[in-house]
Amino acid sequence: MKGYHSPQVDVRVRLNTNESPFAPAEGFREALAERLASVDWNRYPPRAAEPLRAGIAALHGVSPDNVIAANGSNEVIQTLLLTYAGGNGRVGLFSPTYALHSHIARIVGAEVVTATRAPDFRVGAEAVARFAADERPDVLFLCSPNNPTGTVEDPETVRAALEAVSDYGGVLVVDEAYIQFTGRRPGRFTAVDLQDEATPLVVCRTFSKAWALAAVRLGYALAPSRIVAEMHKVVLPYHLDVMTQEIGMLCLQHAAAADRRAAAVVAERERLAEHLSGLPVRHWPSGANFILFRPSGRDGAAVWQGLVDRSVLVRDCSSWEGLRDCLRVTVGTPEENTLFLEALAAVLR
Ligand code: PMP
Repeated sequence: MKGYHSPQVDVRVRLNTNESPFAPAEGFREALAERLASVDWNRYPPRAAEPLRAGIAALHGVSPDNVIAANGSNEVIQTLLLTYAGGNGRVGLFSPTYALHSHIARIVGAEVVTATRAPDFRVGAEAVARFAADERPDVLFLCSPNNPTGTVEDPETVRAALEAVSDYGGVLVVDEAYIQFTGRRPGRFTAVDLQDEATPLVVCRTFSKAWALAAVRLGYALAPSRIVAEMHKVVLPYHLDVMTQEIGMLCLQHAAAADRRAAAVVAERERLAEHLSGLPVRHWPSGANFILFRPSGRDGAAVWQGLVDRSVLVRDCSSWEGLRDCLRVTVGTPEENTLFLEALAAVLR
């Protein structure tokens, strides 16, 4: 197997890993220092991160028994796959999508079954129902907004997936790492709206994107309490250290700031999209903090190198299945986005 890597190059403008371009709220560092001053460093942290889970539960209006927190949503996904597909299970997904879903599935010994997305990268209700019924994966992934395409699935697709996995006893996982960039609350659809104790639906979220905490490694899942209880049997004891837990609780006090940052990113995404429309590239509608684009009649990898030569780093997806010549740019600060657009125009000239 190959490992999972995103090449890091020393450049001025780094738009390759979908981080927040903005720092956490003002006063965050000072408040954190204060909290850490009173930590009992000789003691293990709260074993199942109870206080943090209570905070996350309050944010969503659910019980702490419906929340599991972990070191990034990657660890959430790993725990979930160990629990429901480890050894000889089956994992279903729609390609192209976030590479870690299949990567972790293979690492835990599961078989990966894949369906290809439509040319507009949507999955769609009919296709998801057919695929789930035919392949009967133990765990079926939907990623919405999808990485790296930015595609948002409509509620009917999520409902159809849920119905299909319920028929044979599978679990549906909706990865919503980028959900805050799809639109304003209230009114924006999230798979969380379909959750209850009887429904085999897990929704993954992260603090790495809209919450601006990629350095910390914190993510969580919302799920029926029986699924959370199973996952807690699998995850290592004390897996979430005290600093991560404290940072998470502190961050939850600044939910409004996270919403403001997300709105600023969405505005910049729309500006980027508008300018891309004036360049010889094809780009796809995105509900995330990045845009997938394909330079017309040009070699994607060569365009990527041309950008690097101008000190701008984007993600080179050009060799990924179904993404020939495609590149993915993360929405940065207004200044970074302008530098990216200027560099891209120069490369394509
Ligand atoms: N899900 C998706 C769709 C992602 O794109 C990413 C990060 N790139 C993650 C999960 C993982 O995020 P983290 O482990 O930082 O929470």
